[in-house]
Amino acid sequence: MTNFDYRDGELFCEDVSVADLAEQYGTPLWVYSKAFLLGQLRQIQIAFAEVDPVICYSVKANSTLGVLKVMHEAGSSFDVVSGGELYRVKASGADTSKVVFAGVGKTDDEIRFALENDILMFDVESEAELDAIAAVAGSMGKIGRVALRLNPDIDAKTHAKTTTGKKGNKFGMDIERFRELAAKVLRDKRLALKGIHMHLGSPILTTDPYEAAGAKAIEVVEALRRDGHDINWINLGGGFGISYRENEGLPASEYAKVIVPAVKAAKCRLALEPGRFIVGNSCVLISRVVYTKREGGKLFVIQDGAMNDLIRPAMYDSFHRVWPVKPAVAMPSNVEGEIAGCEKTDVVGPVCESSDYFAKDRYLPPMQRGDLMAIFSAGAYGTAMSSNYNSRPRATELLVDGTTVKVIRRRETYADLVAHELDV
Ligand SMILES: *Cc1c(COP(=O)(O)O)cnc(C)c1O
Repeated sequence: MTNFDYRDGELFCEDVSVADLAEQYGTPLWVYSKAFLLGQLRQIQIAFAEVDPVICYSVKANSTLGVLKVMHEAGSSFDVVSGGELYRVKASGADTSKVVFAGVGKTDDEIRFALENDILMFDVESEAELDAIAAVAGSMGKIGRVALRLNPDIDAKTHAKTTTGKKGNKFGMDIERFRELAAKVLRDKRLALKGIHMHLGSPILTTDPYEAAGAKAIEVVEALRRDGHDINWINLGGGFGISYRENEGLPASEYAKVIVPAVKAAKCRLALEPGRFIVGNSCVLISRVVYTKREGGKLFVIQDGAMNDLIRPAMYDSFHRVWPVKPAVAMPSNVEGEIAGCEKTDVVGPVCESSDYFAKDRYLPPMQRGDLMAIFSAGAYGTAMSSNYNSRPRATELLVDGTTVKVIRRRETYADLVAHELDV
């Protein structure tokens, strides 16, 4: 159940016709299912219930206020990676006491902002950052609660641009430095070590990396306790994979099977930072065919949606299912390879870059100028990475709840495009 289904030959989001939404709100258009968002969060809450986890939805996956509001109303907290994300969490009406703050380059201003808001803890990535947190906390008469981010040297087998837990990338620290820094925290009254943080990369479609990380966490927690630390949090980050193609995503319960026993063995509390798992399949991007074009032996279907809306294919060669909103051929469960009644097609946007595409060499039903296309699994790292490249206004975002539709972000106007530029 994805909450995006074809009924009588046309795509619905929950109980609303997507074509009707495109007619009313224009294209390109982001359409979210609230039921899907809530269902994914609930799946994690249930799978890990035994250890009463703090779920910190990762704001960077999708930072739209309407999404953050759905999350905190359903009991989620947040993982932020910048002051701006923390500001968004507050603006959505959420409480900040369970927020965790990750990222390799926190500035003093961002640290101060987080301390003012009494967040749960910082995920610390280096000694220099630890020193900065101590200095800022000291100047405010506060204690900086920290988890140190361990680079566990685990290969999560993701794309080179999204792996983070392997030796030689910029995230976290190795075990030797971890213990050195832990000892330093113990001597510093301005800091308190609360836990260990690991985020292995994304998307991860097997449980082995989490099992290995869990084993490592137990070892580190026990060693730290022997050193006199009152450590009680294990934060295993995010990275749970989803189904972009067919049914390759695992249910949360599979990850829980390897994570929960480790957390219990370490007698710790668990924090998780899922992003993609919650939002990835909660949203489709709807675009309209502007032109079709045959050139150089290829068929191009040119959309009004583009890489400025959804940059993932250009950035990491990522795969998105695409299929017409009112298709001449029903969408098969596997959209890769040859499909009867379909022709090999490139689905591209109008931006002046060869990397502006949504799908290449994909078998698709015949499409004409004016037809609507659905680009699936667009909820994670979609709107959050949207830009105004080619001076294209960012698109409307709609939240569907049953038969109800709410605009959670209005389409930008041409005036919005230049609103921040002064004195010309
Ligand atoms: C990006 C990120 C996440 C979320 O990753 P997903 O794959 O979207 O679940 C969680 N934690 C940290 C530290 C991150 O950088």
